[in-house]
Amino acid sequence: MQPFPVPPDEIPVGGDWQRGAGPTSACVDPADGEVIATVHAADPAQVDAAARAGAGAAVDPAWRDLLPHQRAHMLDRVADAIEHHAEQLALLQTRNTGKTLGETRALVASAAGTFRYYSAALETLEGELPPSRGAHLTMSVHEPIGVVGAITPWNSPIASDAQKIAPALAAGNAVLLKPAEATPLVSLALARLAHDAGVPPALLSVLPGPGAVVGDAIARHPLVGKLAFTGGTTTGRVLGRIAAERIIPVTMELGGKSPTIVCEDADVDEAVAGILYGIFSSTGQSCVAGSRIFLPRKRYEELAQRLVAGATALRVGPGTDPATRIGPLATFAHRDKVAAMVDRAREEGARIRCGGTIPDEARLARGAFYPPTLLDGLAPDAKTCQEEIFGPVGVLLPYDDEDDLVTQANATVYGLACGIWTADYRRALRLARRIEAGTVWINTYKQFSISTPFSGVKDSGLGADKGRAAIRGYQRQKSLYLNLATEPIAWAGA
Ligand code: NAD
Repeated sequence: MQPFPVPPDEIPVGGDWQRGAGPTSACVDPADGEVIATVHAADPAQVDAAARAGAGAAVDPAWRDLLPHQRAHMLDRVADAIEHHAEQLALLQTRNTGKTLGETRALVASAAGTFRYYSAALETLEGELPPSRGAHLTMSVHEPIGVVGAITPWNSPIASDAQKIAPALAAGNAVLLKPAEATPLVSLALARLAHDAGVPPALLSVLPGPGAVVGDAIARHPLVGKLAFTGGTTTGRVLGRIAAERIIPVTMELGGKSPTIVCEDADVDEAVAGILYGIFSSTGQSCVAGSRIFLPRKRYEELAQRLVAGATALRVGPGTDPATRIGPLATFAHRDKVAAMVDRAREEGARIRCGGTIPDEARLARGAFYPPTLLDGLAPDAKTCQEEIFGPVGVLLPYDDEDDLVTQANATVYGLACGIWTADYRRALRLARRIEAGTVWINTYKQFSISTPFSGVKDSGLGADKGRAAIRGYQRQKSLYLNLATEPIAWAGA
């Protein structure tokens, strides 16, 4: 099976597949260092062309006047196309991001499911007829914003792209998608499929390139009326400032340093399996990675040893090998950053319980590999316990009682996710309500439903993705008053 073919020298700009006018960048397979494609970035003039064409297409009666069920059918056809090419898309994403095929297959299925969900949501979405206080009928209608800027990171491109494109199109908009520099291929493939499935091409432009150039040009473009961002908190602040200056809405799904908590009464097998999955799947490159692992002091060493044994047994290797659990990091630069953060943890006084050095096995020599790593012996306010590493590195932390646990778990700028492992549902619910997080999993971790809104609190985000309400997030609300009185307004003649 070949990956989905994307001509690397063409990008879709406002309905026209053309050569990117910006600098080239190499897409590298992080499992072996091979250059798989060289992509030409967009330049700001192409961003402008895409925005103008998108704005025109959004008000074209051929699109604007489509009835909701007709737009829904179009989204269904995109889902069909994704499913039809699922294996090729998964392979393309594995080669571009290093993720295992099991993971990329799940992401591709999730992207198709997202288009189907927003198709169904659009078919069944209803309006409001608020009670009026006069002789008039009042209506609240929802209209497309026009052009939406969607900016996504490199860890799960097709799924994060779909979570923005599908509701934005359902809402009637055009989308300018800016994928991450290193991983644009599956986003370009998605645009090709969407256009072939009948999405008017000017409604979906994919504009790869450096964030500070292409992402910035999208965010500042006067025709872009909303920003939907997923990425790091630092970038989120930059985009939040631009949105504030321009007075446009912005949703932000940002970073995390999520606690995963084992209670004394937890089922240990269940907790260990879930914690290992929560921190090490996707090689830790997950915003919701359960990277701070809280263990009760009384059972600390027993649980730590179980986790270390489980982590050490996870096979590191290329994402195309079915036995692999830990694929390479997405880029060599990111692998080196993760390694440097573990070195800094050593300087902070961490004890390396497992992993902690770049593997020296010959079979891994050409790839951006890093082993599953567990650390302990650090104070909860150490940099390693506070800063997102975004790699296969978890820190073990003991706690004394529930209050100590809650204090430690909430002592972070982030608030994205949390896992709780306990046999006591009362304790689970009590803790779930006390932890500052957008999502709490109880006796499970990193499970997602497209129907369930996803958001972060504190520095982890603003607004929510997913769920039916996301369509409304890509629309403007307008109030209509229809006069029912038969007499003119009395004031002028009074
Ligand atoms: P990043 O913030 O560096 O980049 C994300 C996107 O923003 C990329 O497309 C990038 O090119 C663009 N960008 C960068 N600077 C920009 C600027 N000045 N103006 C406009 N666009 C700009 O993040 P990353 O390194 O690609 O991804 C990792 C981060 O994403 C982690 O912090 C992770 O937690 C976060 N993330 C969050 C979620 C979530 O849903 N909460 C999901 C996945 C990843």
